[in-house]
Amino acid sequence: MFDSRGDQPSSSELLSTRTGSDLELQIIHYPHPTLRHVSKPLKRVDAEVRAYASQMFDLMYQHEGVGLAANQVNLPYRLFVINATGDPEQKDAQGVFINPVLSRGKTQVAGDEGCLSIPGISASVSRHETVTLQAYNLAGEEVTVELSGFVARVVQHEVDHLDGRLFIDRLSTTQMAEVRDALEEFEIEFSSMRDRGEMPTDDQVAARLAELEQLRT
Ligand code: ZN
Repeated sequence: MFDSRGDQPSSSELLSTRTGSDLELQIIHYPHPTLRHVSKPLKRVDAEVRAYASQMFDLMYQHEGVGLAANQVNLPYRLFVINATGDPEQKDAQGVFINPVLSRGKTQVAGDEGCLSIPGISASVSRHETVTLQAYNLAGEEVTVELSGFVARVVQHEVDHLDGRLFIDRLSTTQMAEVRDALEEFEIEFSSMRDRGEMPTDDQVAARLAELEQLRT
């Protein structure tokens, strides 16, 4: 069972530390520090990790996304879920990828991207057109898939998350100037939440991630 840290403020932004079916993940927004955390490979997949993945799909569909990385729900693990169709009925398009390793093809293409952790902002980002993705699924089986086009883009975006990188880090100076005001809004909201005690401090976030890492990485 997770340590329920009594010294942390209770907040809708905090992950519930309870185990089992009542765990509650939330999508965190820029500039939450966990989005900059370099995730650690999972050493074991237990019932709770499977429950995390299931909730990540729910959140992804609820927010009309096509991919969600563990950092985005305040977890320090190398795991992401995708469904490039965005359609919950299309189960064949669903994937859970654990400890992913990407090999990138030579050609790059530009395409529009957004992010559930920076809602409302989109920009054109250059990505490799094709990738080979090696990872483990929830059953612990190794999988290798060749991907191209939009799904390859989604996977590169998600692997970036696991490395603590956001799509805005890949924008040109001109593009960055265009989104700067919108990003500042997120920064202002974040610091107001901190001021109101609704957001844990950097130290508290780091301590919680370290605990979660100790459990499974
Ligand atoms: Zn994202």
